[in-house]
Amino acid sequence: MNTLPLFFNLTHQSVLIIGGGDVAKRKADLLHKAGASLVVLAKHFDESFLAFLKMHQHTIIHKSYESADLHTLPRPAVIICATDDDRLNHTVYHDAKSLGIAINVVDCPALCDFIFPAIVDRSPIVVGVSSNGKAPVLARLIRAKIESQLPSNIGKLAKLAGEFRQIVKEKLPTITERRYFWEGVFDRALSDKQVGVLSDELDDFMNHQQKSGEVYIVGAGAGDPDLLTFKALRLMQQADVVLYDALVSDEILDLCRRDSDKIFVGKKRQNHAKAQDEINELLVCYAKKGKRVLRLKGGDPFVFGRGGEEVQACQTAGIPYQVVSGITAALAASSYAGIPLTHRGVATAVRFLTGCYQTNEHFGGLKSLYQDDETLVFYMGLHALEKVVGGLRASGVSSDMSIAIISNASLPTQQVLIGTLDDIIQKNAQAKMAAPAIIIVGRVVELYQPK
Ligand code: SAH
Repeated sequence: MNTLPLFFNLTHQSVLIIGGGDVAKRKADLLHKAGASLVVLAKHFDESFLAFLKMHQHTIIHKSYESADLHTLPRPAVIICATDDDRLNHTVYHDAKSLGIAINVVDCPALCDFIFPAIVDRSPIVVGVSSNGKAPVLARLIRAKIESQLPSNIGKLAKLAGEFRQIVKEKLPTITERRYFWEGVFDRALSDKQVGVLSDELDDFMNHQQKSGEVYIVGAGAGDPDLLTFKALRLMQQADVVLYDALVSDEILDLCRRDSDKIFVGKKRQNHAKAQDEINELLVCYAKKGKRVLRLKGGDPFVFGRGGEEVQACQTAGIPYQVVSGITAALAASSYAGIPLTHRGVATAVRFLTGCYQTNEHFGGLKSLYQDDETLVFYMGLHALEKVVGGLRASGVSSDMSIAIISNASLPTQQVLIGTLDDIIQKNAQAKMAAPAIIIVGRVVELYQPK
C-alpha cells in the first residue's frame, strides 16, 4: 500500500487551484462538493469555469503564476495544479514542497503527495478506489461495479441510521447487540430486501433477540478465493470467532472480519492441532457465550469434512446453526484440470471415496466392484496411492485404466499427473506430487488435454 486512504474534511478550508481549463474545472467541481473554499489562479479561464466560480463565490485570480504568489496568498490546505505546461507544473510543485504544502499535479503521479481516487458518492457513504496511478481505467471500472451493486437508497438509509444511533444505544446496551441489530438492517438493505422504519426494526429485533450465538459451518471451496460463495463471504464478514482448517489459505482468511478472533484448529493428516471433540466443544462454548462462530473448512463441510459431527454437537447443545456448501475438491480438481467427472458415452456415475482410514489388507474403499461406466474420485488418497491402485487391481480393473492425480487444485501451484494403474506409482515417485491431492480414476481421464 503506497498511499493510505484518508477522508479529508475540507469544509471551509482553502484550496488553491492553478489552471483555468477543463481539468481544473473537474477538480474544482469535486472540491466544491466537499465544501472547500476555492482560490483559482490562471491566466486564461474557460467561460463555463469562470461562471461556475462566480456563481459559488469562489476567489478568481486572473494572472500568470509566479512563485511569490504562494507567499502573498493565504496558506491553502492543499494545492491542485492542473495546467498542461510541464515546466510550470514542476515550478508549482517545488514551491509547494518548499513551504510544506501537500500538492497534486494532475496526471503526474511523481508530483503528487496525494491522489484523487475514483469515487462512489452516496453521501454519507463515500467509496474511493485507487490503483495508485497504475491503472486508473481499472479503478474506474471497479467504481462502476461497486456503483451498480449498491442499492440507490443506501445513502439515505445511512443518514437515517446516523440520526437513530443514539436511540439504539439507549435501548441496546451492549456493543454486540447493537452490531447484530445494525448488521441485520444493513444486510437486508444491501441485498435489496425491504427495510422498515428503523423504530419498527428495533422493536422487532428486541422481540426476537437470540440470547445464544450461532454456528456457521461453512465450506471455503478448494483454495481459489474466487470459489467462495456469496453466502460464505457474508458470514465470514459477520462472524466474531473463526475456527479454521489447514486447508483454508491466508488469502481466504484475510476476507474474514478483520477484528474476529481467528483460531487455527489444524487437521492435516496425522497432525491434528485439535481433536474433533475439542473442536465441537469450542464451537458450542463460544456460541453459548453469544458469539457468532464460523467453522471455516476446505471444500464442502459435508464431503469428508466432518461437518455432520459438528452439526450433531450443535443439535445436542441446542445451538442454532447454518451449513453453507462449498466447492468440494473433487469438483475443483475436475474443472481446473479439465477432466469431466461424467461424460456422455464414457461415464454415467461418479463415486467419491477416501484413501484414508483403510486398515485392512484388502482395500475397503471399494465396497462394490468397479463399474465400467463410472468415475472414482479419491480424497486423501495420495499417501495411500499403492493401496488405492492395489485395491482397484484386486477389484478387477484393468492395468491400462487411466488415472490422474491433481495436486493443489484451483491454486496457482496446481499440478496434474496422468498415468495408468500400471505406471502411476512409478510416475508419482518421480514427480513427487504434493498434498493435498485428488485422484481421479476412469475413462474420463482420457479426455484430459495438457495446456
Ligand atoms: N471437505 C473437503 C475435503 C477434506 S478431506 C472438500 O470437500 O474438498 C482433505 C482432502 O481433500 C485432501 O486429502 C485432498 O484429497 C482433498 N483436497 C482438498 N483440497 C484440495 C485441493 N485444493 N486440491 C486437491 N485436493 C484437495
